[in-house]
Amino acid sequence: MKHLPRVLIVEDEPAIAELIAINLRHGGFVPVLAEEGVAAQRELDAVLPDVILLDWMLPGQSGLALARQWRKQARTKSIPILMLTARGDEPDKVAGLDAGADDYITKPFSTQELLARIRAVLRRRAPESVKDSVTVGALALDAATHRISHQDQELKLGPTEFKLLHYLMKHAERVHSRSTLLDKVWGDHVFIEERTVDVHIKRLREALGAAGSMVETVRGAGYRITAQV
Ligand code: CA
Repeated sequence: MKHLPRVLIVEDEPAIAELIAINLRHGGFVPVLAEEGVAAQRELDAVLPDVILLDWMLPGQSGLALARQWRKQARTKSIPILMLTARGDEPDKVAGLDAGADDYITKPFSTQELLARIRAVLRRRAPESVKDSVTVGALALDAATHRISHQDQELKLGPTEFKLLHYLMKHAERVHSRSTLLDKVWGDHVFIEERTVDVHIKRLREALGAAGSMVETVRGAGYRITAQV
């Protein structure tokens, strides 16, 4: 149930795009292909990716123009952009970074290098990475194995409930507002109503069973998890 990062590949050369897609799939990503800016915009309007791989030379709008445009839009401005440039185009690289790209990679590149760069931009932009383990009272969460247990009984949670619980447990006893939770759990580039938090809190409590009462509503302030029930 781990969230696989979605990567939008904007590349007009089918052979390169397909090669990148295959490697990304092997590397644990979900690749989505777009040949040029219009198709890419359609994808962005439908589902926001975690990263955009953007070719510099495209038919229609250039990668540079697209990067500038996406940086200006509220919906897309914080999605990391990795520019794909041709070898030796130093001025291009600088212009790409000026236009709002987070990093660039020069063609031809190795798969390992590409995956490493993507992981690096994701790490830099990750709202709250899920990689450690934490306990609150009799509730234990192991992020590495994605296991949650209460009094040694294993519990099953959906991916959003898992991230939400992890954040609450890492900052236990403190009250978190809905907007903070949206920012830290869903990430700041996702546009979701605050009500959504309530829905997931309800699901989380249900999934936790006997431990559900550890998740407290603090009237007018938000939610917290506490060991003192
Ligand atoms: Ca191209």
